[in-house]
Amino acid sequence: MTSFASLVREANLINGQWVAADSGETIDVTDPASGTTIATVPNAGQAETKRAIEAAHEAFPAYAGLTLSERVALMRKLHDAIQDNLEPMAQMLTAEQGKPLAEARAEVGSSAAYVLWFAEEARRTNGATIPSPIAGRKLMTTRHPVGVVAAITPWNFPSSMLARKLGPALAAGCTAVVKPATATPLSGLVWGHLAEECGFPSGVVNVLTGSARAIGGEITSNPKVRKITFTGSTEIGKQLLAEAAGTVKRMSMELGGNAPFIVFDDADLDKAVDGAIIAKFRNAGQTCICTNRLFVQAGIYDRFVAAFADRVASLKVAPGAEEGSEQGPLVDDAALSKIEELVADALAKGGDLVTGGSRHDRGGLFYQPTVIGNATVSMRVTDEEIFGPIAPVYRFDSEDEAIQAANDTNYGLASYAFTTDLGRAFRLQDRLEYGLIGINEVLIVAPEIPFGGLKESGLGKEGSWQGIDDYLETKYTCIGGL
Ligand code: NAP
Repeated sequence: MTSFASLVREANLINGQWVAADSGETIDVTDPASGTTIATVPNAGQAETKRAIEAAHEAFPAYAGLTLSERVALMRKLHDAIQDNLEPMAQMLTAEQGKPLAEARAEVGSSAAYVLWFAEEARRTNGATIPSPIAGRKLMTTRHPVGVVAAITPWNFPSSMLARKLGPALAAGCTAVVKPATATPLSGLVWGHLAEECGFPSGVVNVLTGSARAIGGEITSNPKVRKITFTGSTEIGKQLLAEAAGTVKRMSMELGGNAPFIVFDDADLDKAVDGAIIAKFRNAGQTCICTNRLFVQAGIYDRFVAAFADRVASLKVAPGAEEGSEQGPLVDDAALSKIEELVADALAKGGDLVTGGSRHDRGGLFYQPTVIGNATVSMRVTDEEIFGPIAPVYRFDSEDEAIQAANDTNYGLASYAFTTDLGRAFRLQDRLEYGLIGINEVLIVAPEIPFGGLKESGLGKEGSWQGIDDYLETKYTCIGGL
């Protein structure tokens, strides 16, 4: 019996009923730290998805018709329920995803914070009155929930990525069909359980696990789905954009990243090293805003690499549930093989192995935190999202060179720089082609800020005063003859 057993739901939630897949098929959920099966979930497909969309569609008018106070009260209850269950939810997250428990606690805490933020934002979904150019008319705009929202989420932040979608959807008065990642379905299913406990009406929140292609195909083609909100890889995001074109839905996309981390000669070395450790090794390097490329100016390069490598070599690699773990396992065999390939490629192309570079003694899916010096642009790590604990360090001379190299990618999600030159900080703000810019700071995400990527890293913003906009339609009304 696990400590989070009471929160585990091994069924899908459709229209207030917890159900198996029509086929009766299930998928095992495994703990990446041990390889053991911790639960099974339904392998649902197109027919179940269609029913879930129908349920959300039927539930929509009544839910959208709740008073603002009633909706806000439900949201506040959901926030409290997450807070009350923070510890078991964090343990569940670590068990299926692998991240250190401290990171899982922070993630679940942030999920609660997003729900509360959007409960508050619901009160500010104002329309406007517009001065009329013609006599006898009143012009105004009003805002209305878009309708059924489908949310598709990744395995690396299975709780908070859903919070950023369900939070604004439910606050705006939308109903939802949710598909969590197959590797980490429990942290998605628990939202169904909590929503039910808090009194959200049947059909408002539906959660499906199973075939991505079958569920995704129905979501993108069903005209009753008015909005898709997706967090995941750029590759799948593009595919969903193309598939959904046939039914012209609103699309929000939080996609991949290739974050630069630039250290200038004038940087505070200790702060830069602290920042690099977090920006690179959080969740074993498996976050969209993890730095992929470290650019270090020639005058500080040797000192930075020595100090950084010392810290990297001392990171505690252990199952996420073990006390003091700083880096857990990778998510699956494919991720581990990719990391091995990327390291081999970098070394074959002249990179220096400063520390790490092999599977970890712990075995299984554990990999050593790795630093590769003298990285060059010909290496695969320059263009590919690493999504693992490899830190390639590139040397540069001038500010211009660093900015050009940083921007030389199709991605544009997060970027970081360390400098004590205020003028340079503002030049970076202007010139870095990224949706998120951290100067002398790497923990830059909070419900209050607009999170989202430029270029092929995405469309739209999550969080902040902008995060609810995509869940609302604006209607314009003209009353004439006055
Ligand atoms: P992924 O392979 O794109 O999967 C994301 C989600 O899409 C999963 O639920 C997946 O289901 C589903 N999916 C896959 N194929 C689909 C299809 N044909 N139709 C509909 N849904 C489909 O990404 P991932 O490996 O889970 O996550 C890592 C990626 O997410 C990285 O690129 C990372 O940068 C990005 N990410 C971005 C942000 C951000 O805010 N910008 C945040 C976190 C992660 P299955 O699990 O069943 O395959």
